[in-house]
Amino acid sequence: MTPGRTSMNGVKKQNLPAKICLQCRRPFTWRKKWARDWENVRYCSDACRRGIRDCP
Ligand SMILES: [Zn+2]
Repeated sequence: MTPGRTSMNGVKKQNLPAKICLQCRRPFTWRKKWARDWENVRYCSDACRRGIRDCP
């Protein structure tokens, strides 16, 4: 139950583009909802997009 640096849940090598979130600095991969606007996507989630930090 330890959070690993990389996901060990079976690596699926799909040719999906990836970016790094400007807010949380975590890499995220292409999602279908961003199909139209992938070039402008800079955040992994709406929370990051709004600038909400997930730090208590
Ligand atoms: Zn993020």
